[in-house]
Amino acid sequence: MTVRLWEFRNEPSADFSKSENAEAMRGALSLARSEFGREYDLHIGGETFRTGDLLKSVNPSKPSETVGLHHKATAALAAQAVGVADAAFPAWSSTPAAQRIELVRKAAAILRRRKFEFNAWLVVEAGKSWPEAEADTCEAIDFLEYYALQMQKWASPDPVAQLPGEKDELRYLPLGVGIIIPPWNFPLAILAGMAVAALVAGNTVVIKPSSDTPTVAVKFAEILAEAGLPVGVCTLLVGSGSEVGDVLVQHPRTRFISFTGSREVGLRINELAAKHQKGQIWIKRVAAEMGGKDAIVVDDNCDLDAAAQGVFVSAFGYQGQKCSACSRAIVVDAVYDAFLEKLLPKVQAVRVGPADDPQYYMGPVINERSRKTILDYIEAGKKEGRLLAGGAAAPGEGYFIQPTVIADVDAKARIFQEEIFGPVLAVTRARDFDHALELANATEYGLTGAAYTNDPAKIEAAKDRFFVGNLYINRKCTGAMVGCHPFGGFNMSGTDSKAGGPDYLLQFLQAKSIGTKA
Ligand code: NAP
Repeated sequence: MTVRLWEFRNEPSADFSKSENAEAMRGALSLARSEFGREYDLHIGGETFRTGDLLKSVNPSKPSETVGLHHKATAALAAQAVGVADAAFPAWSSTPAAQRIELVRKAAAILRRRKFEFNAWLVVEAGKSWPEAEADTCEAIDFLEYYALQMQKWASPDPVAQLPGEKDELRYLPLGVGIIIPPWNFPLAILAGMAVAALVAGNTVVIKPSSDTPTVAVKFAEILAEAGLPVGVCTLLVGSGSEVGDVLVQHPRTRFISFTGSREVGLRINELAAKHQKGQIWIKRVAAEMGGKDAIVVDDNCDLDAAAQGVFVSAFGYQGQKCSACSRAIVVDAVYDAFLEKLLPKVQAVRVGPADDPQYYMGPVINERSRKTILDYIEAGKKEGRLLAGGAAAPGEGYFIQPTVIADVDAKARIFQEEIFGPVLAVTRARDFDHALELANATEYGLTGAAYTNDPAKIEAAKDRFFVGNLYINRKCTGAMVGCHPFGGFNMSGTDSKAGGPDYLLQFLQAKSIGTKA
């Protein structure tokens, strides 16, 4: 069945104020709990491996709870997984696109049916609140549906100009074996999006999930198998990035790497992939989507209540652990104090606690290492500005941190320049709107940004000069929707691959031009 591109609609989010949804969520959480502590084997090309080297995934809201125990791959198994994907490529790449599309749609339908179950795993393994987990699962469904639709376009591309006496055509072919390396912060949506885009285009993949969220990844791999993906086409390889990452990236049969994560790891992958290996017959492609230091600019001519609310949700939703999170509010002098007066009560009212309890707006940060890094930044920030809210860990067994606001931060300060990836907002004073844009651009990143202003000339100035991959006007800077806001950043935020956009699949395809003499 051909579905037209403009018929794409984002998956509607469940409303948890409705008792039936809240009930379903509680049921799914109990079900997930009943599986806590389970051991997960490795599956590579139809073989099962139990290496005995177990990765322990814990609940960041309650680290004494073991979510899952995963047998970790060795470097040798990583190389074997690439070999399996390579062997599966000829058959999968010649499977008609219509069949691949159908399979991805089937996977989307299964995920939709099992939505609450996935939400529950996101709550207990990634520390997402119910609505944040729901957003992650809906986004994953969107990616599946959207890339299935997009593949129709590349399977029947627009005709090329015809040279007289010839039949000329352009066909899009898959590349080969792809390595998919997602982060933990969207352990379902980003993993599913990167993997399925590659698969629907006819590539085979090895997915190396984040060591913080392997259980969500295993559950998604189960869906692909249930939808009928042949063995070997997609291998989920749980393992430590530092132990198996280089092997996967450097393997001579690896054709491309799709990475989303930190600047440091992204740059390392890019460098390693660029080096030719013995037996390698192509230049590897790398899409690396990396960090952000996203700013919201607040003008003196704007709806200040909307601006304070937009900054609040962008800075503290999912504990500030979104690449799109607002970590800098840059406020024009004339409304600086008034803005803080509107923002602070919202921050002070936040309750921090276990993510499975919907009374808490904020849950834990992902792990102990992350909590320590964030607290170190907060200590540095206390010297770099004026602490107005938070400033410490929050009580409880989980990795909890208070939502923190530090004002009067200079553009040279570390908390203005470096990605913290936690619930810490730096507020900076700008002379005027132009100065605010200048400050917003004064980092090495360029992922998302927002400007609140009612002045049409300033809106145009932001559109022209705010140098980010995803710009929003008079709304929050998080919450990009598949199809509507193709996602990817400039500068050190990455290669701007624009996930969820009309050109995304081109990264997984190469075009073959054919001219046939009549
Ligand atoms: P990370 O530490 O860079 O890890 C990302 C992935 O890379 C994980 O699966 C990790 O595995 C793996 N890895 C680590 N070392 C590796 C190596 N040497 N070779 C290959 N893979 C390796 O990032 P994270 O902490 O998971 O995620 C947070 C970061 O992602 C933030 O910087 C955030 O801004 C960014 N992010 C960006 C976007 C975007 O679209 N631009 C979206 C979401 C997140 P292990 O877990 O086993 O180490």
